[in-house]
Formats: sequence, structure tokens, C-alpha cells
Amino acid sequence: MEIRLEDFIYPQITKDELYPPNIVDQWLMGYEGFKNKGNIHAYAHFVKRNANIIMKAELSGNIIGVCSRCLEDTVIPINTDMTIIFLPQSQQRKPSNGEEIELQSDELDVEYYKGNVIDVDYLIRESLILAIPYSPLCSETCKGLCPHCGNNLNKDSCSCSKEQDIFNRIKINIF
Ligand SMILES: [Zn+2]
Ligand SMILES: [Zn+2]
Repeated sequence: MEIRLEDFIYPQITKDELYPPNIVDQWLMGYEGFKNKGNIHAYAHFVKRNANIIMKAELSGNIIGVCSRCLEDTVIPINTDMTIIFLPQSQQRKPSNGEEIELQSDELDVEYYKGNVIDVDYLIRESLILAIPYSPLCSETCKGLCPHCGNNLNKDSCSCSKEQDIFNRIKINIF
């Protein structure tokens, strides 16, 4: 998704884009076990004030990831939003001797643009990556894998825990 300064005939623009599966897979490259589950939809609203452009964007869709307990593929819903202010690069201040960079508001991410076109795809990608949960789960109640035999305990049970109990009792009896 990109916007051009000349598109702002009115100070507000709304844009909509469906990122197809091959793009989503490119974005997820390097994130092992993660892949597309169809399109990712981005909906963005831009407001221009003088040379500053504020973008509010929403991302929605699904991706495939790996459950951190049972290691099965699982659908991860993506629903996230971002607010970014674009300032012209001429406004980017470099700290001179001993001067500290003035920190921007925490709630607002600041990006700088130059020229007449702002391509926001890198921000859409970043937002998607940040929306991936640290430990995805196929279900809150996922039972995970048996630590003894590796059996997926969601699918069927194994007799390891019982055998382990008996083994422990025998050990206690011996010592
Ligand atoms: Zn699971
Ligand atoms: Zn087992």
C-alpha cells in the first residue's frame, strides 16, 4: 500500500488492500513454522495536516503457526491496529554536540518520508510480526505432548503416566 501526496485532494484518504498469500509468506520468512492462511486485509485511514500525515491502520486475517504445547499447526487470528505519524525527512533532527534527541510521545510512532510517495508495506509487515503471540496455542486447554513418549495427548492418552507412577512406587519401596 502506498500513498502519494498528490492524492490528498481532500485532507483525508481511506485505503484498503488485500495482501495475497505469497506476500504474507514473504513477510513470515525466517519465522519458522509460520505461513499464510489466506489474505491479510489492511484498512488504512490517512489524514494530512500541512506536511504531516497521520495513518491509522487495521490489520485482520489469519496465519498458520505452531502450537507451543502440542507442536501441531494452528490458525492464529491477526487483529491489530497502528497509528503512525509521517513527517517530512527535512524535519528529522540530528542531535548535535551534547544535545539529546527529543523523545516523541509513546503512543505515536514517528516515521520520516521523502519525496511524494510513502510506501507503508514495511509498517504493515512489522505490525503483523508484532501481532504474533509469543507462545501460540491451538486451544487454551491444549494438553500438549507426553514428556515420556511424545504422544499428542489431545488425540489419545498413553499409559506413560501410570507406568511412571508404578515405577516411582517401586523405587521408593526398594530404597
Ligand atoms: Zn496444542
Ligand atoms: Zn506417553
